[in-house]
Amino acid sequence: MAKKYVYLFSEGSKDMRNLLGGKGANLAEMTNIGLPVPQGFTITTEACTRYYDDGRQVSEEIMAEVMQYVEKIEKINGKKFGDCEKPLLVSVRSGARASMPGMMDTILNLGLNEEVVAAMIAGNPDPKFERFVYDSYRRFIQMFSDVVMGVGKKYFEVLIDKMKEAKGVTFDVELTAADLKELAEQFKAEYKAQLGEDFPSDPIVQLKAAIEAVFRSWDNPRANVYRRDNDIPYSWGTAVSVMPMVFGNLNDNSGTGVAFTRDPATGEKKLMGEFLTNAQGEDVVAGVRTPMPIAQMKQKFPEAFAQFVNVCSMLEKHYHDMQDMEFTVENGKLYMLQCRNGKRTAQAALKIACDLVDEGMIDERQAILMIDPRNLDTLLHPQFDTAALKVAVPMGKGLGASPGAACGKVVFTAEDAKEWAARKEKVVLVRLETSPEDIEGMKAAQGILPVRGGMTSHAAVVARGMGSCCVSGCGEIKMDEENKKFELGGKTFYEGSYISIDGSTGNIYDGIIPTVDASITGEFGRIMAWADKYRKMGVRTNADTPKDARKARELGAEGIGLCRTEHMFFESSRIAAFREMICAETVEERVAALAKIEPMQQGDFEGLFEALEGHPVTIRFLDPPLHEFVPTEEEDIALLAKAQGKSVEYIKQVIDRLHEFNPMMGHRGCRLAVTYPEIAAMQTRAVIKAALNVQKKHPAWNVVPEIMIPLVGEVKELKCVKDVVVKTADEVIAASGVALKYKVGTMIEIPRAALTADEIAKEAEFFSFGTNDLTQMTFGFSRDDASKFLPYYYENKIYEANPFAKFDQKGVGQLVAMAAQKGRSTNPDLHLGVCGEHGGDPSSVAFFEKVGLDYVSCSPYRVPIARLAAAQAAINEGHLKPFKPTNTNCGH
Ligand code: PEP
Ligand code: MG
Repeated sequence: MAKKYVYLFSEGSKDMRNLLGGKGANLAEMTNIGLPVPQGFTITTEACTRYYDDGRQVSEEIMAEVMQYVEKIEKINGKKFGDCEKPLLVSVRSGARASMPGMMDTILNLGLNEEVVAAMIAGNPDPKFERFVYDSYRRFIQMFSDVVMGVGKKYFEVLIDKMKEAKGVTFDVELTAADLKELAEQFKAEYKAQLGEDFPSDPIVQLKAAIEAVFRSWDNPRANVYRRDNDIPYSWGTAVSVMPMVFGNLNDNSGTGVAFTRDPATGEKKLMGEFLTNAQGEDVVAGVRTPMPIAQMKQKFPEAFAQFVNVCSMLEKHYHDMQDMEFTVENGKLYMLQCRNGKRTAQAALKIACDLVDEGMIDERQAILMIDPRNLDTLLHPQFDTAALKVAVPMGKGLGASPGAACGKVVFTAEDAKEWAARKEKVVLVRLETSPEDIEGMKAAQGILPVRGGMTSHAAVVARGMGSCCVSGCGEIKMDEENKKFELGGKTFYEGSYISIDGSTGNIYDGIIPTVDASITGEFGRIMAWADKYRKMGVRTNADTPKDARKARELGAEGIGLCRTEHMFFESSRIAAFREMICAETVEERVAALAKIEPMQQGDFEGLFEALEGHPVTIRFLDPPLHEFVPTEEEDIALLAKAQGKSVEYIKQVIDRLHEFNPMMGHRGCRLAVTYPEIAAMQTRAVIKAALNVQKKHPAWNVVPEIMIPLVGEVKELKCVKDVVVKTADEVIAASGVALKYKVGTMIEIPRAALTADEIAKEAEFFSFGTNDLTQMTFGFSRDDASKFLPYYYENKIYEANPFAKFDQKGVGQLVAMAAQKGRSTNPDLHLGVCGEHGGDPSSVAFFEKVGLDYVSCSPYRVPIARLAAAQAAINEGHLKPFKPTNTNCGH
């Protein structure tokens, strides 16, 4: 049987989102549960994939199927495309499996042409109706030209502005039927001028072009960026839903709205949303007119409002989650156009999840699964200092559209935001209104201040999705975008002026307000406690200082998975001793330099053991290519020469000799310890003495240092270094008279180590996968330079994500899985972890759970993300930790 590419809404269900996209599946589901949905059809995501496979064309076979479904919906709705009595007009909307708000294209009012317009007007004597028809017609021409044919909106906006000026009016709604008729003519002329052909009048031609445009929009630059940021594979494709139009712009007894069943900014349980009378959906979303709060809809449309409130409660109960809905009221009657699990801020996500558990709608596991771990990041970022905020006087107020604290220099374009942020400037992006093209600038900015638009405008939705602070719709701002300035509170702000914005209250402040660190309390604490209850993998941190280690402990880290010992020498006061060690030419010189370093290292390690209070601390021995540390400035070279009692020329020769063509594959990692065993011996003494001292001070703690040898590729290499470590450690312990256990393990970060993991495991008590180097060496990409050429790989769809950020399960993953299995085959007690950057990336964490690692280790601020991701992975894999009661009493 031929593949089915088109489904009536009545043929689908919510479980078919892979095929029908989120929008199509939910339209089907709303139809199934009896809600008022205009009956249309959805073209599947497989048709989109086929469109790309067929060289970006909708095949005749699929178009023929679409035509059958056009006939079906004509029958169901009693209307016909191009018919002068009962014309069918449709919307054509995109809808992928995962929602991508505002990233792809939509066309409304499709099916209009001159005859249909004339016939519609002739059939209804109400002069207001004539206005409505022309309004719809000019909107359609504008949208079709922009979305389908790529003629920018701006050409049409100029014409609208000219018309408003000529007629002496401020708002679009003040334009008369005659004005709009004239505008439609002007729009068509503009279309012809731009494209050299007439605007298509055949509804079928319009429909085919619109379907193609939606498929095409799956590959537009903003969608590609959004997908990369949100882990959405390119191969999914988008579905297209074709739905008969209902008209919110029919008359004053009509309108359109967007609403959430709970507040998407705070999570509070109350209907939240916005409504515009006599308008179409895009007016609300685009922020062109600032809409009224949904509560006011009650006065205007009491019946439709009551019905809508009922629908909200039905949908929440049905989906067990907060819903985001688009609806239209046509002549007082309610129609549902869309529902989906609403995007929300991290704060709201936590509150909603906890409330749903308390309301008995979901259980703890479902609560864990409904939170996107990546969003937690925003909660861990600084908030305004309460004391400073109390005394600060806001100079203006908008809507708190996405919470958080942002301060920085004002910029007026997305490009500037990107450019300034690239040179490490903190910026606040101030725009009249944002458009989807601004997404990269919005990402680069600390916060966004769009002057127009409500809580559901593009800027607000996108900011919430990204976890960026956003204050929108501050009408007091007098914006002069062209000259890059605005006025507020009697002051003019220019590009580079400092402002602060509070995304919770909507307040806007002059200058910088200090910020403070966030903490895990309240609902955040409750969810984290649930995550700890269900996760199986441990979560450690990568930390080199007691301060970072303490922060990580505060955020729930159960140990240190990686301390990069070389980082302890970045400080200017220490680098000199380190350079002496690197540039030493004889064992004696090196030993002398190491003697200076040893007490510093010991002190650092004591700090770490203290901060970890007996929890595991993994200390990685010296790893980087040494050239990274050699002096380059004449002044520093002279200092080094003096310290070693050598000539400057001699030191320069030594430095030259350290030069390597491929330093990342050069004299680094355990190769240093093989060449200079005295370095490994010094580091061992420092670790063991520090551990002994801290153990003596805190007899109740169980200090067990874990010494980790980097960049091993051959078991004999590990054995060679391990022999130095064990001999040194055992001597120090014996001399101290105190019993101390320690472990020696290795990093698996060279493909050969993964391939020979069974041999290596015989000499290692633990493996920690160094997925940064393992990725580098498996791909053959430099981890430092790949970002220069990776964008071309994204463009050509060769790779969809940066493999250094999102773990490559297909390739590098095989090495990890194999090494884990081989390692355990010869050493069943082998403890397995990961300490590359991927340890804090949710989709990578899910993979590490799958292959059976014992823990992940990540930077301190990613610890809560990893805890939640690990819990989700355990739940999804069915690997559950035995229940152990935890104290979930964090503010509840
Ligand atoms: C790694 O390679 O993944 C790792 C953790 O070590 P580093 O980043 O220090 O090379
Ligand atoms: Mg490494």
